Amino acid sequence: MAEQKRDYYEVLGVAKNASQDEIKKAYRKLAMKYHPDRNPGDKEAADKFKEASEAYEILGNAEKRERYDRFGHAGTQFGPGGFDFSRDFSGAADFADIFESIGSQLFGAGFGSMFGRSRQRDPNAPERGSDVEIEMGITLEEAIFGGNRDIEIALGEDCADCHGTGAAKGAKREKCRQCGGRGMVVAGGGFIQFQQTCPICHGEGTIITNPCHTCHGTGRTKRRRSINVKIPRGVDSGNRMRLAGLGNSGLRGGENGNLIVVFNVAEHPIFEREGNNLACEVHVPLDIAALGGTVSIPTPDGEAQFKIPEGTTDGKLFRYRGKGITSIHGDVGDMLVRVVVEVPAGLSSSQKKALEAFAKTCKEGNYPEMREFKKKSENFLKMRDALLKK
Ligand SMILES: [Zn+2]
Ligand SMILES: [Zn+2]
Repeated sequence: MAEQKRDYYEVLGVAKNASQDEIKKAYRKLAMKYHPDRNPGDKEAADKFKEASEAYEILGNAEKRERYDRFGHAGTQFGPGGFDFSRDFSGAADFADIFESIGSQLFGAGFGSMFGRSRQRDPNAPERGSDVEIEMGITLEEAIFGGNRDIEIALGEDCADCHGTGAAKGAKREKCRQCGGRGMVVAGGGFIQFQQTCPICHGEGTIITNPCHTCHGTGRTKRRRSINVKIPRGVDSGNRMRLAGLGNSGLRGGENGNLIVVFNVAEHPIFEREGNNLACEVHVPLDIAALGGTVSIPTPDGEAQFKIPEGTTDGKLFRYRGKGITSIHGDVGDMLVRVVVEVPAGLSSSQKKALEAFAKTCKEGNYPEMREFKKKSENFLKMRDALLKK
């Protein structure tokens, strides 16, 4: 299902330890070469451009780059089915920055946007709604087994009263006097003149003189919506899930934005999660630690009996393969169990007697650590005496 993706470093032609500056430069070079405007109708160039942009989106962002370095492409995508780590544009500022500089190199100063936006925005044209990102706290159980949550969020949509125009009922948009309806004004003076977006109408060419009361002229209102979010099995903190079309609704009939859910897994009273591994401390009674036996431990597969070997010391770590979390990619982690030997409390007098009777049978060899410590302390005291007698 998944096509073989090229390594992002290979795509940009940079070393694994390349600096952010080198990455930016390499991307800029490729973007200039393969930009669709320079290669009209060339599918291969378009693919190359897309590939380079995708690589830059990851490597150009320190956090995403680190995730990519650790997990490869798997760290940037859930795979097919709408999960997608890579489509967040937290690096957007940087992205826009680079496009602007490419644009001005390609087309000279005054270049506005690479994304096909015309100089004069049509205020009545449909526009895509923006993406909405929310953080969702979930329990470790939900992260392991998946689940369902109904959430309420306020999403932007076209104002019902003015249908997104921002103008009061009956009122029409009027031509902007500042720019004469062009959306752009000429700034600068003498030989250096350049066009910039009209500051009054923000490039739309028209202004609202009689704003809608409901939305105060913005054309947008917020409405609370209930959305059912399916939590995928195996998600971890920081994982992003994209719900296509569930973001802010499009403007004037445009496409809806996406809802991006970022998961945050809460701490658990027993388990600690380390990647796909689960770690826990298990309290083992003194006699089982000494004689060996089994203890019961909860695992994602249900309750399990784990064997504790004879003579298990406090703090010993056991690894039970395949008893951890099944990741969203289907990899299974291990269960790491640290033994804590528990000293019995609240002994009855007969129990105490039994323990005393047992203690009387003990020899030095039964407590090798104690014997070792005793030797070392005797050495210390001997040296003390020798040195103080001098
Ligand atoms: Zn309105
Ligand atoms: Zn204007």
